[in-house]
Amino acid sequence: MFSTIHGSRLTSPLLVVAPHPDDEVLAAAGLIQQALRAGHDVYVVFMTVGDGFADAVRESLHLPESKASFVQLGKLRFNEASQAMRCLGVPPSHLFFLGFPDGKLHVLEASKKTHRTIQSPFTKKVRANYAFAFERGAAYSYRGVLKTLTSVVTNVKPGTVVLPHRSDTHPDHRATRRFALAAIRSTKIQPTVLSYLIHYPHYPSQRGPLIPPVALQSKRVRELTLSKSEVEQKRAAFRLHRSQYHLSPSILRFIRPTEWFWKE
Ligand SMILES: [Zn+2]
Repeated sequence: MFSTIHGSRLTSPLLVVAPHPDDEVLAAAGLIQQALRAGHDVYVVFMTVGDGFADAVRESLHLPESKASFVQLGKLRFNEASQAMRCLGVPPSHLFFLGFPDGKLHVLEASKKTHRTIQSPFTKKVRANYAFAFERGAAYSYRGVLKTLTSVVTNVKPGTVVLPHRSDTHPDHRATRRFALAAIRSTKIQPTVLSYLIHYPHYPSQRGPLIPPVALQSKRVRELTLSKSEVEQKRAAFRLHRSQYHLSPSILRFIRPTEWFWKE
């Protein structure tokens, strides 16, 4: 019914763009495994380290909400994402953690004309000063994000980029998409672009096979089938995002033998 793709047939290298740690696993753990097995280089860029998730501060760190707790959560999620990627076979040198403010990417994206710098309401940071940040000190501004992401794209020179779908309902996801497309456009690189869907009403379905929402079904849809061991590896990688794993059981609905992509 839909065209199929396989990670081995991608144009290499592959760059996966994740707004938050765990999006990369939920969206593309199968694609990543297949690409690596075929000998392709795989890179992942994390726009934020998910340092604005109050539930995780309370329930995973057992700390009251404070600037220091959110920073601690950011460091924890950096470690979790690094472990999850190692589990799939992506080396640490292929990971880019940008450290931009969780929950505020859309505000940065909307401030294109004003060049305003914003402060994270969680960590109180105004720049990406995590020790692990790719461009340490990058300002929390439209220009800061675009410059940093463009630097990732020119470093990787991707043959294929995987980024959020235009209809994803999470503002950070839609902003990530627009930033990534703007970064690609600012270079001479012309990768194949595939998008993925995480946040959407009634998606993924509770039961039955994972299928794309009817409203988003089109000729652009591509179906990727995971082997049994690829599904198990996806589950193992997601488990390493410990701070997320026990918080949102419904997210496990993504751990199925199918991943969907949209050819842009
Ligand atoms: Zn996300």
